[in-house]
Amino acid sequence: GKVLVTGANGYVAAWVVKALLEQGFAVRGTVRSDSKANHLRSLFKSYGDKLEFAIVNDIVKEGAFDEAVKGVDAIAHTASPFHTHAEDPSELIVPAVQGTVGILSSALKHGSSVQRIVVTSSCGSILEELPVPKTFTEADWNERALREVETKGAAASAADKYCASKALAERAAWKYWNDHKGEVGWDLVVVNPSYVYGPILHEVDKPEHLNESMRMFYDAAVAGTYDKDMLNWGSSWIDVRDLGLAHALAVKTPEAGGERIIVSQSVFKLQDFVNVAHRLYPQLPAGDTDFNPATAVYFQAYDTSKVRKLFGIKLHTIEEMVKDSLEDFKARGWIQ
Ligand code: NDP
Repeated sequence: GKVLVTGANGYVAAWVVKALLEQGFAVRGTVRSDSKANHLRSLFKSYGDKLEFAIVNDIVKEGAFDEAVKGVDAIAHTASPFHTHAEDPSELIVPAVQGTVGILSSALKHGSSVQRIVVTSSCGSILEELPVPKTFTEADWNERALREVETKGAAASAADKYCASKALAERAAWKYWNDHKGEVGWDLVVVNPSYVYGPILHEVDKPEHLNESMRMFYDAAVAGTYDKDMLNWGSSWIDVRDLGLAHALAVKTPEAGGERIIVSQSVFKLQDFVNVAHRLYPQLPAGDTDFNPATAVYFQAYDTSKVRKLFGIKLHTIEEMVKDSLEDFKARGWIQ
């Protein structure tokens, strides 16, 4: 079968494309302009015409995906903005929500061959910033971020703006599915990753241009620009390679239909990454040398029984993720 992957040149999407190709699927990736496909074209040259591209320059435009959905068997919708420089929450919410509703409605009108749609949501639509630790499940929703953005608007935190965009997009996806399930030949799977880290496949010319999560990793472990507070910030994380595979399995596992699936490895503090990095590369910063993982409080954990039962993936460890990320940085000349 052929799978449409939106925002194919993104950090997560490049690994989704790779996993799908490795699982035997053909892939049509959407990118904003043809030149943004060149890197993936050369990376996956050996797959020949099993990889093709469609241009969708703005996912917000009405009917943006009308052409791209034609003839595909499944869709993985990953395109959505993830950054911290939005002034007004609508800068994130509009593309997140309209991109999601847009692809579902293009699939309704023009995707008669589509059997499954996988939407990349986020644990941001699940977790709440609470003063006490909690293990979240697929039953939880980030009502707090939604309230914050509704009451504070542009004054809400960057994290709340992003989380609200993901929660609203995911809600819109489930609503669209419920409203139209009688008219379509596809079902819906939502994948909710925690913070994503690990080596880079997509095109990045310099560290400043890394995607949001890997820029944080770089700033903490390599550049050493974070203070103690920031190094003691954390949540839960997943290796990008496991997340790529989880998307491919979400496309092909029948029992995943209708499920919201948390994909996460374990809790972390940025200093946990720094500790591994510094041990492997003593020239890298030591960070907060007072940090003690035994007494640190890890606030946002997840119940991952569903993903383990459905997909049974052996997840990369923190040691493997940090080592492979740093090897990637070294090969790029970003670590001396
Ligand atoms: P990237 O920034 O690397 O990728 C985002 C992709 O979306 C890019 O291809 C980008 O295109 C595209 N995109 C964004 N806005 C638009 C738009 N208006 N029109 C067309 N394309 C657009 O981010 P990630 O790979 O990290 O994120 C991918 C998905 O994973 C997102 O849905 C994100 O919310 C989710 N996620 C990520 C996590 C993480 O820690 N990284 C954690 C949990 C979820 P371009 O590059 O051309 O701008």
